[in-house]
Order: sequence, then C-alpha cells, then structure tokens
Amino acid sequence: MSHSRIHNFGAGPAVLPLSVVEEVQATLPNLSGSGFGLCEISHRSPTFQTVVDSAMDRIRRVLSVPDDYTILFLQGGASLQFYMTALNLLKPNEKADFLETGGWSKKAIREANRVGQANNIWSDSENGFRSVPNNSEYSVSEDSVYLHYTSNNTLMGTQYHHLPDSAGKPIVVDASSDIAGVAIDVSAHDVIYAGAQKNLGPSGVTLIILSPWALSRAKENSDLGNLPTMLDYTIHASKGSLFNTPNTFGIFVLDCVFKWLEENGGLEGAIARNRAKSSLLYEELDRSNFWSPHAKKSSRSVMNVTWRISDQSLESVFLKEAEEMGLGGLKGHREVGGIRASLYNGCTIDSVEVLVKFMRDFEKRHG
Ligand SMILES: *Cc1c(COP(=O)(O)O)cnc(C)c1O
Repeated sequence: MSHSRIHNFGAGPAVLPLSVVEEVQATLPNLSGSGFGLCEISHRSPTFQTVVDSAMDRIRRVLSVPDDYTILFLQGGASLQFYMTALNLLKPNEKADFLETGGWSKKAIREANRVGQANNIWSDSENGFRSVPNNSEYSVSEDSVYLHYTSNNTLMGTQYHHLPDSAGKPIVVDASSDIAGVAIDVSAHDVIYAGAQKNLGPSGVTLIILSPWALSRAKENSDLGNLPTMLDYTIHASKGSLFNTPNTFGIFVLDCVFKWLEENGGLEGAIARNRAKSSLLYEELDRSNFWSPHAKKSSRSVMNVTWRISDQSLESVFLKEAEEMGLGGLKGHREVGGIRASLYNGCTIDSVEVLVKFMRDFEKRHG
C-alpha cells in the first residue's frame, strides 16, 4: 500500500485489525482456492457454506453462546432490529420496557412503539445522557414482555458495567458498539443484536443471537401471520441465514475477525486490551482540568471515550492538529460535541499511546 494508515478512532465503520484487512485483500480474487473471488461466489456454494458455518462456530465459542441459541446474520443494521425485535417479540397492544440512555435507545423506543407500547422506564435525557441506571433507579412494569437496554452508548460514551435487573423478564440488548469487546453473559439475554461495523467487521451485516424463548415468540407471531417474510426471525433461522442472498463479503470478514479474536486470547484478551486502552486515555483526561470528560465515572465506556476541552474554542484546533498528526475520526457526535475516541477491538494500544502523547503536547502549547 502506498499510503500509510492513520490512527483511526472513528465510531463506525471502524478500524479492523490490519491482518484481517490483508487476509480479506488476499481473498478478493480467489476464496479458499475455489477459483471464485470473495465477492463473486454463490452463497449456495459449499465453499461459502463453510464460511458461514465457521463464522457461527467461532461466535459460539468466543461469546460462549449456548447450544440452544440461534445465530443469525441479517441486513438492515441495528436500526432495523429496533423494529424487528419488537415485531417478533410483541403482540399488538403488548408492552415492553426500555431504558433510555442515548440516541440509539431513543430510536429503539420510537420503532417499538409502532408495534406495541414501548414504556420508557428510565431516562437520563435531562442530564445530557451522562450515565446509565443502577438497578435500584427504575422498576420493571408488571405487564411488560421484556426489558430493552443499550449496553454501550456509542454517541454518549457511557456503558453498563453490570447486567440490568429485569425482574425476571426476558432481556433484549442492542450491543452494537461493545459486542466482543467486553464481558457478556449471552445466556442471560434473549435477543442480542449488533451491527457489525463497530467491533466485528464491515457495515451491511448484523449479528443477532436469539434464545429459544425469543424464537418461540417469533413463531407465535409468524403463525398469526403478523410478520412480513423478510422480518420473520423464524424464516431466517430455518434457512441458516441463507433465506435470501446475505452479505457474503461481510460474513467472511466477520469470520476473519472472530478467527483473529481466537488467535489473540479470545474474549478475555479483547477485554484486557480494551481496559488497558481506555484506562490510559481516562487517566490522561483526569490528570488536568484542561479536559472535561462527558460521562459520569461509574458509567464510563471502554469503547467510546467522549470529552470536551474546557475551553471549547480549542476543540476545532485540536481536531485539525490531530488530523495533521495522523490521528483521525476524533470528532464527537453532534449530540455531544467535542471529541470522541472510539477504542474498538481493531484499535491498537499504540494508537492510544500516540493520541495521549499528542494530548499532552497540545495541552502544553494551549493550556
Ligand atoms: C451504530 C449503532 C446503531 C446503528 O447501527 P446501524 O447498523 O447503522 O443501523 C445502533 N445502536 C448502536 C448502539 C450503535 O452503536
């Protein structure tokens, strides 16, 4: 490659491990010696079936997915799952509870409201979404079918460090921006969904993990004729995610990323690396009043670190100088402003060290 890669802190699509990018590059003309290029092979071919099986097996191993749970690779992003989970799990007039912790959970609530009643049982909207709730701060409604939460709030830089209490109800989670980056008890959840483009691969493929309960609820709705074919979990499950043409490219990259995870200490390895990266950055942010971190300490995300510069007029200077130093993707989301460094699995500790060094230097010159 003639150009050098930047230190990529973008929120998504996000940096992938370089070895994965190179493996994908090598496969584009010829996948696994089949003679067919990666983007040119039938999803019905045995070669591609091997890729799907391998990706699902690796996900099962890395995330400890119980044998009786179903793994799906669908399209439409996490944004389609806002609607699709509700459509499959709720019957008309039924209720689900939602914890509103940022822009993505707001959207999940809006879409679920098209299907049934989405109860917003806790919101941090008034405080600018700086935290996620403790279990004692909300109560689950007696007549709700499930509890929905957003495990990591990509825009706000907040994250749960515990499993939300659902009072025994099934739990649905949007784990788009921390899946395979932090510990997760899959068996404690009934639907886990995640767009791949943060921690897992390219955009255009969505990982969905369903418990037997979730699939049985979908079956009831399917039998009632409530589900359009393409929005029916049971159809995709019965066809092993090959009901129609899936994102073949995306599924291959997903397999490569999970192989890379397995070769690099599995989920435990990823957790340790993400902890180390985020600690380094938060220590720097806490060192001086020059910086003003957004999230409440107990809710800080290890995946997306958000902050302002106390003198906000310096933020555009910071971003410009960072870019000149080869540090990219640091502009905060417009809902929070300021600066955001996304430290997904593909982001290396080297990149974070370069960022921290730049921050020290920037503070010296402008502080
Ligand atoms: C990025 C993101 C989404 C949206 O994902 P799409 O794949 O673009 O639909 C939803 N939820 C969270 C937590 C995200 O980070």
